[in-house]
Amino acid sequence: MSRLVAVSNRTPGGGGLSPSGGLVVALSAMMRAQGGLWFGWSGHVQDAVAERAELREEGAVVHARIDLSTDEHTGFYLGYSNRVLWPLCHGFAAACERQAEYHRTYQQVNQRYASALLPLLRADDRIWVQDYHLLPLGRYLRAAGVAGRIGFFLHVPFPDIESLRTLDDATEWVRALQAYDIVGFQTQRDLDAFVRALHWACPEVRLEPGGLWRADGGVTEIGVFPIGIDVPAITDEVRASRDAPRVVEARALRHRHSLLVAAERLVASKGLEHRLRAYQAYLSEATAATPAPLLLQIAVPPRREASLDPPLTASARRWAAQIDAPGGDPAEKRLRWVFESVPHAELMGILRAAHVGLVTPLRDGMNLVAKEFVAAQDPDDPGMLVLSVHAGAARQLEAALQVDPYDTGAVAKALKQALGASQAERRERHQAMLRAIARQDLTDWSRSFLDRLGRCRSG
Ligand code: UDP
Repeated sequence: MSRLVAVSNRTPGGGGLSPSGGLVVALSAMMRAQGGLWFGWSGHVQDAVAERAELREEGAVVHARIDLSTDEHTGFYLGYSNRVLWPLCHGFAAACERQAEYHRTYQQVNQRYASALLPLLRADDRIWVQDYHLLPLGRYLRAAGVAGRIGFFLHVPFPDIESLRTLDDATEWVRALQAYDIVGFQTQRDLDAFVRALHWACPEVRLEPGGLWRADGGVTEIGVFPIGIDVPAITDEVRASRDAPRVVEARALRHRHSLLVAAERLVASKGLEHRLRAYQAYLSEATAATPAPLLLQIAVPPRREASLDPPLTASARRWAAQIDAPGGDPAEKRLRWVFESVPHAELMGILRAAHVGLVTPLRDGMNLVAKEFVAAQDPDDPGMLVLSVHAGAARQLEAALQVDPYDTGAVAKALKQALGASQAERRERHQAMLRAIARQDLTDWSRSFLDRLGRCRSG
């Protein structure tokens, strides 16, 4: 069996990165199971950087990491990745900060990734490039002579054509993906958006079922591979974290309150402000609700260096103040904040304690927390999931109470329905969702992608 080489912008461990992003959580589990080489940025920024990657072996995984220089970090990571591609992919095209320097550095760093990876490669490796930071990496690897199989997976949504066209280099963006043998997306919606972009940017490409025939005569396959979770591992984490102080506290809150839990990185796409508004609308109509509701909101501040916003926007602060008047009686508070990354196992324990999981992003590639909420529940007495239709996970979790997060009245109504649901309804919905996440789990995601990559013609 040929070796798996995963390439991602960040790797765990190096720069003290705690795994509170879906990509690192999923890839860590996949690499533990498969073994292989995992190449990426160490998380360190240095004035002078070595060209060669530093290698470290951990079990069956060899980690190969490079540092970024201050300029590279500014232009490639903070600049083009976080201030251009990220907003573009999440429906905030107007917020893109287009700077020629960002674009230049993005290309240079991708080239440097290729040069540092090259000496570590074997002829029969299966190379799997992850996410929007590394769109053109395949092209640089091909230019350096790599002829073997290279796949690419986009974890975030593929931008709609109107947003994409606002970028000067949009055509180059779409063309770069043709260096890969296969390009994978989270949902059919993303794949359809890519096909529309392709018709616009590369009319010479012929689209056949399952793939596109490039002008050079080669084929790039395309497919939908919804990322999943390891369901039994989450059951184990729930068990292992039972006595962790945060989990014990969450259980105590469950006894006193109707407990709602939301957990995410503090970024605009997760819909915190809209959620607070919806919760406030719910509270204003549910004064006599017993037990009294409490929203436990875990909001992980952006990675320090990527921070564009203060931890809470002015608007989120205003809504929070409407829910809980500053200085009010602590016993009357309806909102509890945790502003730090909670270890994964503890988060699973907290999700289990919730009566309702509130997962309402404005846009999300998949959203693993939604799936983890389902896996963490007690099957006999499960909580209800209120889920945004704009999360990729909504495609599999059809039995969730699905809402449009922009429609705060509808979210408030869904909250009421969730808290009033009978045990029979909760069980029925939970069983359907559990079946869905067990059918398309983490192993299925990596196996189906890598099987397709293995069958691609260029290998
Ligand atoms: N996570 C965590 N601790 C936290 C917050 C999040 O371990 O305090 C994990 C969460 O369990 C999930 C991942 O980080 O596995 C977030 O993935 P998701 O797809 O929901 O969102 P992303 O951050 O990748 O946009």
